[in-house]
Amino acid sequence: MQNKKVKAYVKKKRIPEKKIIQELCSKYNTIDVTKATKFNHLPLSKFTLKGLAENKYVDMTDIQRQSIGLALQGNDILGAAKTGSGKTLAFLIPVLELLYCKQWSRLDGLGALIITPTRELAYQIYETLRKVGQYHDISAGLIIGGKDLKFERKRMDQCNIVICTPGRLLHHMDENPLFDCINMQILVLDEADRCLDMGFERTMNSIIENLPPKRQTLLFSATQTKSVKDLARLSLKDPLYVSVHEHSTHTTPESLQQSYIVCSLEDKTAMLWSFIRNHLKQKIIVFFSSCKQVKYMHESFCRLRPGISLLALYGTLHQLKRMSIYESFCKKQHAVLFATDIASRGLDFPAVNWVLQMDCPEDVNAYIHRAGRTARFKSCGESLLVLLPSEEIMIEKLKQRKIPINMIKINPSKLQSPHRKLEALLARDVTLKETAQRAFVAYVKSVFLMKDKELFNVHSLDTDAYAKSLGLAIPPRIRFLQRMQKKMLAENSIETGQEETNKISTDSEDNSEQEDRDSSDTSIPNTTTNSEKKLIKKEDLVPLQFDDSDDDDILTIKRKNVDIDGEIPVIEKDETKNKKKPITKVALAKKILRKNIVPNKKTTFDDEGQEVVDSTKTKMSALARQYEDEVESGINIELAKQILREEDQFDKQRFREKIKEKHREEKRKLKAKKIEENDEEEEGASLLKKEDADNDVSEDESSEGEGPDLSWLPDPDKIYGKQRNTDEEESSSSEFEETESEEENLIHRPSKRKLVTQEEHKRKKQKTSNVAHLQADEELALQLLQN
Ligand code: ADP
Ligand code: MG
Repeated sequence: MQNKKVKAYVKKKRIPEKKIIQELCSKYNTIDVTKATKFNHLPLSKFTLKGLAENKYVDMTDIQRQSIGLALQGNDILGAAKTGSGKTLAFLIPVLELLYCKQWSRLDGLGALIITPTRELAYQIYETLRKVGQYHDISAGLIIGGKDLKFERKRMDQCNIVICTPGRLLHHMDENPLFDCINMQILVLDEADRCLDMGFERTMNSIIENLPPKRQTLLFSATQTKSVKDLARLSLKDPLYVSVHEHSTHTTPESLQQSYIVCSLEDKTAMLWSFIRNHLKQKIIVFFSSCKQVKYMHESFCRLRPGISLLALYGTLHQLKRMSIYESFCKKQHAVLFATDIASRGLDFPAVNWVLQMDCPEDVNAYIHRAGRTARFKSCGESLLVLLPSEEIMIEKLKQRKIPINMIKINPSKLQSPHRKLEALLARDVTLKETAQRAFVAYVKSVFLMKDKELFNVHSLDTDAYAKSLGLAIPPRIRFLQRMQKKMLAENSIETGQEETNKISTDSEDNSEQEDRDSSDTSIPNTTTNSEKKLIKKEDLVPLQFDDSDDDDILTIKRKNVDIDGEIPVIEKDETKNKKKPITKVALAKKILRKNIVPNKKTTFDDEGQEVVDSTKTKMSALARQYEDEVESGINIELAKQILREEDQFDKQRFREKIKEKHREEKRKLKAKKIEENDEEEEGASLLKKEDADNDVSEDESSEGEGPDLSWLPDPDKIYGKQRNTDEEESSSSEFEETESEEENLIHRPSKRKLVTQEEHKRKKQKTSNVAHLQADEELALQLLQN
């Protein structure tokens, strides 16, 4: 028995962690990529292996097999593999292992930085890390825009792995004293080519400047950058290019079936509507080129009730909404997600059947990423590209990049156009109409700002027909195009005498364009020609923001070498000088601030110039007064709720007092009336005996029983008809109704009051009809006597 105990003790004796780590690291150089097919064939820590096994990750994918080993050996890696091939684990495992082997603890601070272009992707990677790394004693943080900055700030120094978007990371680097990356060991860029392209260029340059030069760097993407410039920016050390599908027949997954249709701009909406109506039991992602289009298509189609749930994901949505839509689409079995390119990279929505690209993607890479949202990791999927006749050359470009795509034709008889219904919707709803107008302009602008002018030609668009298809009876004005056309007309009218000078100016423009194209530094101002700089306003550039609100350059063109052909006219200096400076809202606000005027405040004065204080509007509770004094801007929702609750008590009290006062008043009136009535009753009897009886019905209040006995007379109704009587009744009943409706308006009025009023009216009615009878009888008696 005792022996057994000793044995058990010996078994439990733990090998020191350091020794285990040493053993693991010593095996790194012996990894045989050809033989290792499962994760447990690699020298990985038991924590990682347990996390992988628990999530049913057993066999490695090609990219994982080829890159994990090399990364464990400490190499810088450029990893390229098709969409959905498991690149996330290919970088997460080396990150976990590196920190484990260095025995990284919470006190060591930031050890690994993972940068991704979108918030949703960062969140997805964070979730995978949480699953796979759950047995490691390492902390991870998600640093993305739209979240509580203060909350992140406090916890930043406790994170060993930070997953972030570039804009938010730079924000912390610049402003957060707790952010310290001096010890950082490994940097990962997922969707590296996107992170390094022009949209994030300045942000990424600033981030890289702040990172320690001695580090390992891993770059992953389905469309990996090979640009020497990018690699130089990151100062990679002899990077290894791991491209597992470089020699495969196709660039896109084999299980992805790809087709395209050529469709006029006018028919696009009908085509989309018909497609959705015919695929109600599917999960579909539909890509558009701007947020505004997504917003409009989503809102309008929702109202048309297609019979499948519709969702929309775009950059201008609130972060919480973005997150909930992302999660909701993940969970749904059948749904349509309208999205901009924020959903095009890296997102792993499960079981998507179809990807529709309603607007031509800006280039082949964008096509690959969008289409790659389906047919992920051994599953099948279909993709449909919708092209305008002028965009058909895109197919050539796709085929050159080894993308198999077939044409299919639409059966025009099967197209169901919703444009009449849309028109009716827009006629009823002005807000929706404005959304439609914005969508229309956003699309035209997006085409205008595309860099590939061979593919995108704004002049070839039948904008009127497009507006109609969106339900817009009158096509909205496209101001920037109008300006352009005006200028072109002006140029045409210039006499040939000026040819020489024109030629010179065109040449110089061409040169500057060329410079822009060749320029290695593609900072924003360099990408546009001089003329563009003068003409393109910031708001004109918004559509090309493509929703990456994470980035700091919100109002800039985010594609390299945007080439707007020299078509853009130079605005004459004199013209601009003559124009009146428009008064912007900002300028107005500044003016008000300078004058120290408190906005949204109304003060009323009486005839003597004294301020009239409205007691109903003054805050009674101490909490509200304190809040009013303290808060300068913004609303603290919780506090506001509490204040409302407290103020409600005071309001109720005030209301009760008001009602009481009203009752008192009514009672007083009633009393006064009763006294009056008594006096008049006494007079009434004598008055009736007079021949010239007073005709004032309302004031005569004698009752039937008190009148003279005229029962011997014939029925006056039979002689005069009921005219007079009914008239009276009608008027009195309408009077009653009025009072009733008044009654209804009085909230919380006790029912007693209602009874009183009804009785009063009954009495009045009775009196009125009595008097009428008496008058008629008297007249009749007089007539008979005369006869
Ligand atoms: P990529 O980044 O290459 O587009 P992801 O890393 O998003 O691909 O992975 C795509 C899908 O494949 C994910 O759902 C992931 O869980 C799954 N996956 C990745 N690697 C494996 C594996 N070794 N075994 C099983 N499933 C895997
Ligand atoms: Mg990925």
